[in-house]
Amino acid sequence: MLYAPNREPCAVDLSDNTNLWGVPPAAQRTLREAGGAAVTRYPALYAAELKRALAAYVGAGAANVVTGCGSDDVLDSAIRAFAEPGEAIACPDPSFAMIPIFARMNGVVPVPVPLAPDHGVDADALVATGAKLTYVCSPNNPTGTAAARAVVERVVERAAGVVLIDEAYAEFARASLVELALSSDRVLVVRTMSKAFGLAGLRVGYAVGAPALVAEVEKSRGPYKVSAIAERAAVAALTEDMTWVREHVDLAIAFRERLANELRGMGLAPLPSAANFVLVPVPNAPVVAQAMRAAGVAVRPFGALPGIGDALRISVGPWEMMETCLVALRGAT
Ligand code: PMP
Repeated sequence: MLYAPNREPCAVDLSDNTNLWGVPPAAQRTLREAGGAAVTRYPALYAAELKRALAAYVGAGAANVVTGCGSDDVLDSAIRAFAEPGEAIACPDPSFAMIPIFARMNGVVPVPVPLAPDHGVDADALVATGAKLTYVCSPNNPTGTAAARAVVERVVERAAGVVLIDEAYAEFARASLVELALSSDRVLVVRTMSKAFGLAGLRVGYAVGAPALVAEVEKSRGPYKVSAIAERAAVAALTEDMTWVREHVDLAIAFRERLANELRGMGLAPLPSAANFVLVPVPNAPVVAQAMRAAGVAVRPFGALPGIGDALRISVGPWEMMETCLVALRGAT
């Protein structure tokens, strides 16, 4: 099955949770200056310089970090590394839609496990699958729910094999389980520069964990997965753009709460979010999203999410975009 969300261009695109404030300045400068050997020659085999910069950012050693062509590539490689064809990966439902797809691409069987009634992770149900590999996403896409630390620890203590914790949106939660990954030999925290760092088009993802786990992912990933230009821009962002990143994370958090308030004012009940998006249950979400698209605003519709029903996922960006979105939503409902 192909991953096929509607990617038609739209004036205000709030559909993919990327950074709507743009590219951080030092990364932008690096891209303008890139050329020559960064284009004609192969990049570093395993992006050693980027690993060092990421290690400093998360407070780990370079041997604790593996990079990839987006965290998609890291997740795909980790599934291949830690589950054999025919084995299972337990994943919460609803959660990141690519996990069942990557599982099947690797001959691994996805076992969906409904979220708990509060939209948190159901630790016991995940463990009860006996799956070789367990996936947890915190904050979870598409609900925005941050998993409680104790719940994830319970999964880690009792799961049969490796636990992948997807922290694509961790910056917006101001919380991370990286130290859990560093103190365990079965936990890999997977992260990305596509969201808070504004580099989705460059495809830079990474994972943090015990050196032995990280080495397994790197073997199954293969060489040359981060382009030289992407590596330079990512290193520039990590070393020179942190003030920009922090300021825009702060804005995303403030506008997320303001957007949720506005939605409540419309009589809707958005789920509490720790990410840079808000999920709001709305009847006939695909029809509403289509009408909003006609008004120039793209949001991501979900039909009949387990335990939630139809809903729209709205990425948070500059407040003018949020206002345009609210006008389109009011016009469409
Ligand atoms: N994990 C989650 C939960 C996501 O929402 C996304 C992006 N939609 C990814 C991973 C993949 O991001 P990327 O490949 O751009 O790093």
